[in-house]
Amino acid sequence: MAQAGLGYDDTPILPRTKWRVHDGERPQPRVVTPGIPSTQEKSGEPPSDAVALFDGTDLGGWQTTKDGAEAGWRVESGFMEVVPGTGNIQTKQHFGDCQLHVEFREPDVMKGESQGRGNSGVFLMGLYEIQVLDCYENLTYPDGNTASVYGEFPPLVNACRKPGEWQTYDILWEAPRFEGKRLIRPAYVTVFHNGIVVHNHTELIGPTTHRQILPYVSHPTTGPLMLQDHGHLVRFRNIWYRELKQYDEA
Ligand code: MG
Repeated sequence: MAQAGLGYDDTPILPRTKWRVHDGERPQPRVVTPGIPSTQEKSGEPPSDAVALFDGTDLGGWQTTKDGAEAGWRVESGFMEVVPGTGNIQTKQHFGDCQLHVEFREPDVMKGESQGRGNSGVFLMGLYEIQVLDCYENLTYPDGNTASVYGEFPPLVNACRKPGEWQTYDILWEAPRFEGKRLIRPAYVTVFHNGIVVHNHTELIGPTTHRQILPYVSHPTTGPLMLQDHGHLVRFRNIWYRELKQYDEA
């Protein structure tokens, strides 16, 4: 809200905006109450303007990817856990450009190696995977590491915590844009793993697959968040997003 007497009205117009330098009429930033960070023992709380996708109580906002049936994963004391064989699950809600927060925990019993240890995945728009894997003292192909853009880009560093500890992904997602069938802007992703940057505005090559490269295929600017059932007992908690807006957008 503009307030008389703030700022200046005799200053140059800033490029790419309609506002003057120190323009008092420029919309004020909205006030957001920050969330409460999680601890290993306790799930945190989202910021005041976030949309909670999983608050630890039920899977009412989720469904199976295959046929839209009720999600069959286990919910217990604040987290959900993959029930192997029940399939991938996705949010009923669809969204596009966002800031996404996801927490996951690898099984404390170390079992399997390479891609066979604690594999799951966070699929943006149901198509683009940020890999979930236990890469704590576990080697695999680099573009399949924990927090990789699977099959495209390894994380800049391996920021894994030990199995059995809760870990965080904070993701900035910019959805690809299409005009009809033509790609006019690819997807971009920035990812923090346990607070450490592992992708910095990385341009995606296309949707996720295995042993291949797929071209972009046009889709809407919103989609569901999907979590992968890769047969391992991975847990998730405190999942939320905030719509990612441009400057001066309300
Ligand atoms: Mg995976």
